[in-house]
Amino acid sequence: MTSGSSIANEIEKENTDVLESTQAVILKALETLGYDKQVYEILKNPLRTLSVRFPVKMDDGSVRVFTGYRAQHNDAVGPTKGGIRLHPDVTQEEIEALAIWMSIKCGIADLPYGGGKGGIQCDPRDMSFAEIERVSRAYVRAVSQIVGPAKDIPAPDVFSNSQNMAWMVDEYSKLREFDSPGFITGKPLVLGGSRGRESATARGVAICIEEAAKVRGIALADAKVIVQGFGNAGSFVAKFMFDAGAKVVGISDAYGALYREEGLDIDELLERRDSFGTVTRLYRNTISNRELLEMPCDILIPAAIENQITQENAKKIQASIVIEAANGPTTTAATDILTENGVLLVPDVVGNSGGVIVSYFEWVQNNQGYYWNGEEVEARLASRMRTSFHRVYNAAGRYNVNMRLAAYIVGVQRMAEAIRWRGWV
Ligand code: GLU
Repeated sequence: MTSGSSIANEIEKENTDVLESTQAVILKALETLGYDKQVYEILKNPLRTLSVRFPVKMDDGSVRVFTGYRAQHNDAVGPTKGGIRLHPDVTQEEIEALAIWMSIKCGIADLPYGGGKGGIQCDPRDMSFAEIERVSRAYVRAVSQIVGPAKDIPAPDVFSNSQNMAWMVDEYSKLREFDSPGFITGKPLVLGGSRGRESATARGVAICIEEAAKVRGIALADAKVIVQGFGNAGSFVAKFMFDAGAKVVGISDAYGALYREEGLDIDELLERRDSFGTVTRLYRNTISNRELLEMPCDILIPAAIENQITQENAKKIQASIVIEAANGPTTTAATDILTENGVLLVPDVVGNSGGVIVSYFEWVQNNQGYYWNGEEVEARLASRMRTSFHRVYNAAGRYNVNMRLAAYIVGVQRMAEAIRWRGWV
């Protein structure tokens, strides 16, 4: 896709293709900033994507060949950075779009990175602990040539956590024959992880909610909140909102949703959830994920997967603030509908950037070999999140565009500038 008009035609119909819709926003952002087409040509796809297939022995003695990817969008600003997801629906296109989003996220948060992303096509919910370990290690061996502390720094993403990071850093350090904590972030504390990393994405979302509520004149203590998804991001967001005195009226997992007008007891739900965030199966009177999104609330936080708010249901959203904790939960058409209806939509590249911000802190601590306390991490995260939110909010006003395009304008600018300084165009 190279011309503005073909993009316009494409997004006329509902576009749930994450790579195409990302390219369309990048193009608009660059046009708004006055950059020429050559910069778009460089940025529209990752500079490098490695596709790998690797055999792993399963517990029953059989051998399964897994497919994985690692995409590196652009390294004009610095090494690339982004998570590795373990999910059956992983595709190369999706990983490439997600790598581009990481570039935008790092640009908005002013981190010295370009974006990267990795994925392994597998379902860890159906695998034993030992099988997940062998897959994690085999993936690192397969991509080891293109990753590294000054090249491309992975992290957790959907269905990967500090245990996967621990196996991966162990494998990488063995391959390189020296301890390399800065190779990956999201590690357990004892292996060089950062305080506050596990709850960082949710804490960042919570700070965005505070700022968005302030600009909309909503008091958190009176707010009704719905959180879609109860994984690492969703469950912590629900907890932060619950502790802040908000009424969390709805939550969901992959199997269904709970909506209670009087508010849910998040502490109880947290106690009963499993490590994949499954909890609703233990309750009666559940509704579907789709239904949950349309229920009455002030603040809606999609914290699950892509393409949840589409042109089908966007008109029925009752919230006045939507904060994207998941990556890509709202389609382009739905973004326009929500904006027309006066909803303040805080896009993923701002809303969930707390994770990569604390990942950056982790990498800095690994590089300097000196570790901060929890308060220091939290204070630095809060300050960066507030700055990011207001940079994007102000850009939306200045350019008279929605928050998503504003975020891309802010996020792409530094990369475009770095490309020009390096003389690539
Ligand atoms: N996977 C997270 C994201 O999408 C975190 C990435 C990182 O910490 O590098 O932002």
